[in-house]
This record gives sequence, C-alpha cells and structure tokens, in this order.
Amino acid sequence: MQNQVVVVGAGLAGLCAGRLLEAGGADFVLLEARDRIGGRILSAGDDAKPGHDGFDLGPSWFWPATQPAMSALVAELGLAVFPQNAHGDVMFERMQQEPAQRYRAMEQEPQSMRLAGGTAMLTQTLAHVIPSRRLFMNARVTAMSLDGDGVALTVARTDGGPEKIMADQVIAALPPRLLEATISFTPALDKVVLRRWRDTPTWMAPHAKFFALYDRSFWREAGLSGAAQSMVGPMTEIHDATTASGAAAIFGFLGVGAAQRAALGEAALVAACLDQLARIFGKEARTPRATLFKDWASDPLTAVPADAALGNHIVPDGRAWVTGPWRERLVLAGSETSSTVPGYLAGAVEAAERAVAEILHRLRLGGA
Ligand SMILES: Cc1cc2nc3c(=O)[nH]c(=O)nc-3n(C[C@H](O)[C@H](O)[C@H](O)COP(=O)(O)OP(=O)(O)OC[C@H]3O[C@@H](n4cnc5c(N)ncnc54)[C@H](O)[C@@H]3O)c2cc1C
Repeated sequence: MQNQVVVVGAGLAGLCAGRLLEAGGADFVLLEARDRIGGRILSAGDDAKPGHDGFDLGPSWFWPATQPAMSALVAELGLAVFPQNAHGDVMFERMQQEPAQRYRAMEQEPQSMRLAGGTAMLTQTLAHVIPSRRLFMNARVTAMSLDGDGVALTVARTDGGPEKIMADQVIAALPPRLLEATISFTPALDKVVLRRWRDTPTWMAPHAKFFALYDRSFWREAGLSGAAQSMVGPMTEIHDATTASGAAAIFGFLGVGAAQRAALGEAALVAACLDQLARIFGKEARTPRATLFKDWASDPLTAVPADAALGNHIVPDGRAWVTGPWRERLVLAGSETSSTVPGYLAGAVEAAERAVAEILHRLRLGGA
C-alpha cells in the first residue's frame, strides 16, 4: 500500500509535521530511528531516562519576543512556561590560580523562557495528537529511490529485517548533514545540493551538557543566580537548571572539544565539572545527589564526524534544498532548513509548517 506521505524523523520538526498532516486530512506515517521521540529534545529524570519534570539535556530555552511561530505553538498546546532564573549575581572564572569573581547580573534581553516539565513537554504533547498507528519507532530509513509514481523507502527495523515502504511524498525532518551522510538516494541528488547538505552544520551537535542535581538551590540562598562564565573550564557557560517544580540543578556547556571529550571519557569529565562547580559555588556543589551528562557529538542520530568541529550560524538563503527529479517528491523540514531561525526549536516549527503547506498543496488537500 502506498502512503500519501512518509515523514522521516520524530524530532520537533517531524512531530509538528505529523500534527499538521493529521489536521490536513493526509494519510501519513512517521518513522523514527530511535526508541523515543524528540530527537535533540531530551528531558531526563535523575536516572538519565526520558521523564516528566525532566532536566533538559538538549534545548532549554525559547525566546517568545522574537519567535512568534514557536510562541503560538506553545500557546495552542496549552503548555506552561517560566523564565530562566536570572535573579542574583553571576560568577566569572578568569584564571585557575585566582578565585571566581562575583558580579551583578545584567538584565536579560530578550528573556529566555523554559517549558514547565522540560522541553519534552512540547514533543510529548504533539505526539498525543498523532494517532499511534501512524508513529513507528526503531524504524531507521537507510535509502530512498524514485520508483514509478512515488518513492520507495528502505527501512531498517530493530524488530525485524529491512522493509520497503512506499510514499507519494516524503518529508525528511532531520538535519541535512545527517540526511546526506546516512540515507542513500537513487537516482543520486545533484552534487551541489549534496554539498550544501553536507556543509550545513547541525546546530549544537558538537556540544555536551553536564548537570548536577541538588537537594536545594543553595546558590540562590547565597544571592547567586547560578549563572557563571569560565575561561578555565571544563565548562565555559553555566546556568541554573532548577525545574518549574523546584528540583534544584545547575548545568553547564563543556568548552572541551568533542575529540578531547572522547579521549578523556565521561568519568574524568564529570569529576572535573564537579571540581569546577565547587570552585565557583562552594564545597556544597561538590556533592550533588546525582549528575547527568549528554555528549551530542557522539550520538550517531544527531551528529556525523564533521560535527566534532564547531560550526557557524546558518545563514538562510533563498536556494531550494532539493532540485532535479527529487524536487516533486521530497521536502526537507529539519530545523536547519528554516528560512527564518535555522537550527533553533522555532526553526523546526517554521520548517515543518512550510513543508506541510507545500505537501498539502501537492496533494490538493488545502494548505498554501
Ligand atoms: C545541547 C543542545 C542545546 C540546544 N539548545 C537550544 C535552545 O536552548 N533553544 C533552541 O531553540 N534550540 C536549541 N537547540 C537546538 C534544537 O534542539 C533543535 O533546533 C531542534 O530540536 C531540532 O529539531 P528537528 O526535529 O529539526 O531535528 P532533530 O531533533 O535532530 O530530529 C531529527 C529526528 O530524526 C531522527 N532520525 C535521524 N535519522 C533518521 C533516519 N535515518 N530514519 C528515521 N529517523 C531518523 C532522529 O532520531 C531524530 O529524532 C539545542 C540543541 C542541542 C543539542
């Protein structure tokens, strides 16, 4: 049987696309390679497993003042938001030999907002409006070929052998660089298009986040916001990660590069992060009740080897993401393909809206 649409990837873009396809009356399936939805959105409990009221190992913030599509989605889904904590002084660590300095915080502009329950509330709520018969986990697309009146997708299932799925239209809701590296196309795409996909950095894929979870936000009691900058490391940028329900935590982005992280290993990095937190926030910071660590550069469903190096911001331009014979069958919808805010959560929402409008138009089901 031929589906009207196959969506590849159940990150924010794929789930937004699924919700809009469902509303538009399209017959579709959504294929996700992982055993969970969300992609780069990962809110985890103390045990590092995806959970409610989770700590955001992927994205934490959105900016309502500049991201109207994202704000509209959050409001439509009825999700509660709260501001990133910025009350209190910030710390600055300049040199190993010198104690961290305390400064009065600048007003945050625009205000970063977080989702109560973790950013995964967004993807979990979206998944509720997609019928379960349409969503398949552990289904990794490995190849696509133009086949008569549609596209034949080869899907590797962990619960069985490869499978062929047919579609009139395909929405590829994953980073273009990952698409180029992991899915083969017959006939091959134009070389210029493939080079552009390869050269488009996957936003934040080179990064790793460390969390220390505590019984209380002791830094707030000391008049600190939990924010710190460091030129010593291993974390360069540190923030309060306390949840809306009050589960206390601090997180930091590691400034150590992906190759060095791989060489050092998680245990050594965690120990160095705790040393740093103790230097900056005092000895109580050395003994968290739990720690969490997520290295996105070593996650093969987000990053490719080229993501070991930090990428630049993507500058949107008007060029088509797909050309040649594929143009009538394939639309890209990963956040990096957004024409307004590529790489961000808001970009995934915008790219999915654009892709589905195009697909519904092609299927004559309404839309643009
Ligand atoms: C550490 C970190 C911090 C971030 N912080 C912020 C922030 O604060 N604010 C912000 O706006 N953005 C932030 N981002 C970026 C944000 O996470 C992304 O913009 C957004 O999640 C991208 O969604 P997406 O659906 O386009 O892609 P993804 O989330 O990458 O989803 C792609 C999906 O496709 C699946 N997939 C891959 N290959 C296949 C295949 N062959 N077959 C089937 N499925 C496949 C993947 O498993 C995944 O589920 C951050 C990202 C990271 C990693």
